[in-house]
Amino acid sequence: MSFSAEPSPLAGKRVLIIEDTVENLRLFRAILQLEDAVILQAERARAGIELARTQAPDVILMDMQMPDMDGLTAIILLRADPTTRHIPIVVVTASAMNEDRQRAHQAGCNGYITKPIEPSSFAAQIAAFMQTS
Ligand code: MN
Repeated sequence: MSFSAEPSPLAGKRVLIIEDTVENLRLFRAILQLEDAVILQAERARAGIELARTQAPDVILMDMQMPDMDGLTAIILLRADPTTRHIPIVVVTASAMNEDRQRAHQAGCNGYITKPIEPSSFAAQIAAFMQTS
């Protein structure tokens, strides 16, 4: 089911959510399930990287602050690995600072969304970043 009459660009896409705050995880998952996306999730960066390697998701949503590893390091590791280097990564972070945005792009992310997210446009933002990557 989608909010619009158009088929969602995320329908059938495998979205890996790497996010340690369970409330955020639940919100993102609920929104993306309405778009008929297939959700994979990890609450820690290392577990997320492992899922990226083994499950080949179509896109990764990356939190920047996690207990075991920061998102920047996780992006660098994903971009250094031939198995995962092509997967679009969209950062979803509380930091709206330009420096953080620049660092994330330098590390190799394809898009950057700041929290709190806008539920009505979240899926479209992700889909747009996937197309430009
Ligand atoms: Mn976090």
